Parts: sequence; structure tokens; C-alpha cells
Amino acid sequence: MKTISVVVPFLDEKESLPELVARVAAVFAARPEDWELLLVDDGSTDGSAEWAVARTREEPHLRVVRLSRNFGHQYAITAGLDRAVGDAVVVMDADLQDPPEVIPELIAAWEGGADVVYAVRRSRRGETWMKKFLAAGFYRVFHRLAKVEVPMDAGDFRLVSRRVVDSLKKMRELHRFMRGLTCWVGYKQAAVEYDRAARFAGETKYPVWKSAKLAFDAITSFSASPLRWIALFGVGVCAVAGVWTLYVIWTAIFRPETLEKGWASIIAVVVFLGGAQLVSIGLLGQYVSRIYEEGKGRPLYLVAEDTAETEDRG
Ligand code: UDP
Ligand code: MG
Repeated sequence: MKTISVVVPFLDEKESLPELVARVAAVFAARPEDWELLLVDDGSTDGSAEWAVARTREEPHLRVVRLSRNFGHQYAITAGLDRAVGDAVVVMDADLQDPPEVIPELIAAWEGGADVVYAVRRSRRGETWMKKFLAAGFYRVFHRLAKVEVPMDAGDFRLVSRRVVDSLKKMRELHRFMRGLTCWVGYKQAAVEYDRAARFAGETKYPVWKSAKLAFDAITSFSASPLRWIALFGVGVCAVAGVWTLYVIWTAIFRPETLEKGWASIIAVVVFLGGAQLVSIGLLGQYVSRIYEEGKGRPLYLVAEDTAETEDRG
């Protein structure tokens, strides 16, 4: 019999978890597969992790992995994928924005031969226009730069087959954009459409600045194009400066009386170039700092408790 793992990273989702566990269980009650629900606690402080661990005693399909602190959503997903045992693994959010009722459709596409099945949002409810606008812009930019086909409007809600999970396990890069990585592996990819619900309870843990950081991380970890842009910009500035210098020399020789003391315009140019250089160095520094961070070779996350292992020992 096949086993499906459902990996759900969560941070302070006390109100949503009971509903989530109940709805996932209801979905699998009507299915032939064996299943596990792997809740990954990303350093919650509201008692939701304690609730989840206690719940494993009544719900044998439930397994809770607690990280030693808050590492971030992408790391929590990684921890879940590393420990999931299923033949296919579904990743979804804890806030029920990704409805568990879509899982059978994901499984159907997987049984139809797909290795990665993403759930694509047909609509997004309960999200600000600002977030939708930025998200749309990001998907377009990423698509162009990364040369990896990341489907527009697919979040982290997706199903990946065992061989994709095993491939992902080999990618231990520190700056992780899981959506990009699951597309990078290739194989047969398919999409299933769904309506994204509003958050069941609580507040979003992804304010705009955090989403922007993820977007920047995603772009710089998949593409060195920004470095090429600044180099191209430098070439452009040099070309303009060259033409301008020729013009100034020409004026000095043939029309010396028209040569003005243009100190104001000189300052404007100097300040502009100074700013452009600082931005370029900063961007370069981002890439260099990644080398530094990767060089440390630290583990991506640390696990404080895994209910599956506690059971084995006890
Ligand atoms: N989450 C997490 N660690 C974090 C932030 C968020 O595990 O540091 C979880 C969160 O509990 C939820 C999922 O990641 O299950 C997506 O977060 P959220 O719903 O706040 O993001 P949004 O849907 O608003 O983009
Ligand atoms: Mg959400």
C-alpha cells in the first residue's frame, strides 16, 4: 500500500491546528492510502506545539517534529521533507489557506505520472491588493531571471514524489526557495487549480517585508543576472562619459568662449555615480556574503524533538 505524508510547518497556529488535523484525517478516511501528518513546529510559543505533541497520543497518524527554535518557513519545510516517509509528500500551510480537500486531486495527478504537482491559486481571498500586486510582479521577474519554470501563483502547496524528495535532500544550500528548487529538479510537473481561502484564524506571519526578503533571496539564489546588470550599467555609463569627454574637448578647442563653469552639473554626476557604485558594491556584497555563509557549513536546522523517535525509545 502506498503512503502519503502531509508536511505542515507551523508557527503559533493554536486556533488552526485542531481544524487542520480533523480535516486532513477526514480526507484520508475516505482514501485507500496509508498516511502520516507531519507537523513541523518552527519555534512556536503559543502552546500549539504542546497541543500537537499531546494529540499524537490519540491520533496515530500524527507525528510532530519540533525545531529547536524559529528557523523560518523554508527550513521547517526542509525538516519535514527530510523526515517524511511517504511515497509522495504533500506540503501545505497550517492556516487552512491551502484546503486539505484538494489533496485527492494532487494524488490523482501523481498517480497519473507527475512527480511534482503544484496547486495553483485560481483566486486568493483575504490578502491585501499590495501583496497580490507584489506577488504577481515577483513571479514574472523570477520567471525571467531564474530560467527555471516556476508556475505563476503556485505557493508552497504541492505534492512531490519520493524521487523528488530524495533529490531535494541533496540540495543543502542555505538560502532556500523551496518552490524554485522543486521546479529545478525537473521530471514531469503538473498543476491543479484551487481557490485559496482566507486564513482560518490568527495573523499572517509573512508581512510584506518578509515576503520581499524571500523574493530577494529567491532571485539571488537562482540567478547571477543582477551582477550582469550592474556590469552592463557600468559599460553604459562609460560609453556616455566617453562621448561627453569628446564633446568637451571639441568645445575647448573650437568654441572656448562657450565653455561654462558647470560645477553644479559636475556635482550631480558625481553624486549619481557615487550612489550607483554603492548600490553595486552592496549587491556584490550580497553574493559574497552568501559564499561566507555557505562556507560555515552549519546545519540548516536543529531538531529538538520528534514524536516518532520518542515513541521508539519509550
Ligand atoms: N510559518 C513557519 N515559520 C515562520 C513563518 C511562518 O513555519 O517563520 C508557517 C505558518 O505557520 C504557516 C505557513 O508557514 O503555516 C505560511 O505562513 P503564513 O500563512 O503566515 O503566510 P501567508 O499565507 O500569509 O503568505
Ligand atoms: Mg497563510
